[in-house]
Amino acid sequence: MKNFPLLLLIFLLSCQHSSTTIQETSKTVVKTASTKDVEKTKVAKKAEPLDYSPTQWTELISLDSTIILDLRYATEDNFVKEQMYACGRCFLRPRVARRVYRAHQLLKKKGLGLKMFDCYRPRPIQQKLWDKVPNANYVTPPSKGSMHNKGAAVDLTIVNADGDELYMGTEFDYFGKEGHHTYQDLPKEVLANRRLLKSTMEEVGLAAIRTEWWHYSFKGQAYEISDWVWKCK
Ligand SMILES: [Zn+2]
Repeated sequence: MKNFPLLLLIFLLSCQHSSTTIQETSKTVVKTASTKDVEKTKVAKKAEPLDYSPTQWTELISLDSTIILDLRYATEDNFVKEQMYACGRCFLRPRVARRVYRAHQLLKKKGLGLKMFDCYRPRPIQQKLWDKVPNANYVTPPSKGSMHNKGAAVDLTIVNADGDELYMGTEFDYFGKEGHHTYQDLPKEVLANRRLLKSTMEEVGLAAIRTEWWHYSFKGQAYEISDWVWKCK
């Protein structure tokens, strides 16, 4: 029995160790169960079936419903003065949509946000536009297809916290030199607003074109021109 104290110590130590293990294990089990519950809830909320292919397209407002839509081709308030879309929904290729979403988050930090004038434009709609205005200075021929027809371009502006557009000097789709990035004979406020839009979009990887302050596109991936037309709810 000389070894009794030593044996007792070993026994006590081993009990302590196993009790810690049990506690840790039970904690882990509880954690896992609660994470699964949260996931189940999320899945249940998203159960409404999508009416488009999410591998091909992302509906922009599904990423952030505070992005304002003012899709002019779904109204008569556009340069052809005719409604071109049966209804206004903003779809983009998933990688492009995520970039626009990030731009909106950057602006949100400044108390601002994005307003969309146009997103993906199906080729059949491009054809309708071309039939009305067969002039390559204003409309890209449907045979060539534009970045909008590929779901990789957006027409947009910045809004303040009240949803009012920042002054950009011209309307969307104003086809004159005043709409060009290179045109500098504008109030300082306008130049600053255009610069903010340009720097924000470039920060998320979208590129400007010289002639339209409202147009940005993603050139990091080659997409097919698409004929898909979204459904109206
Ligand atoms: Zn555009």
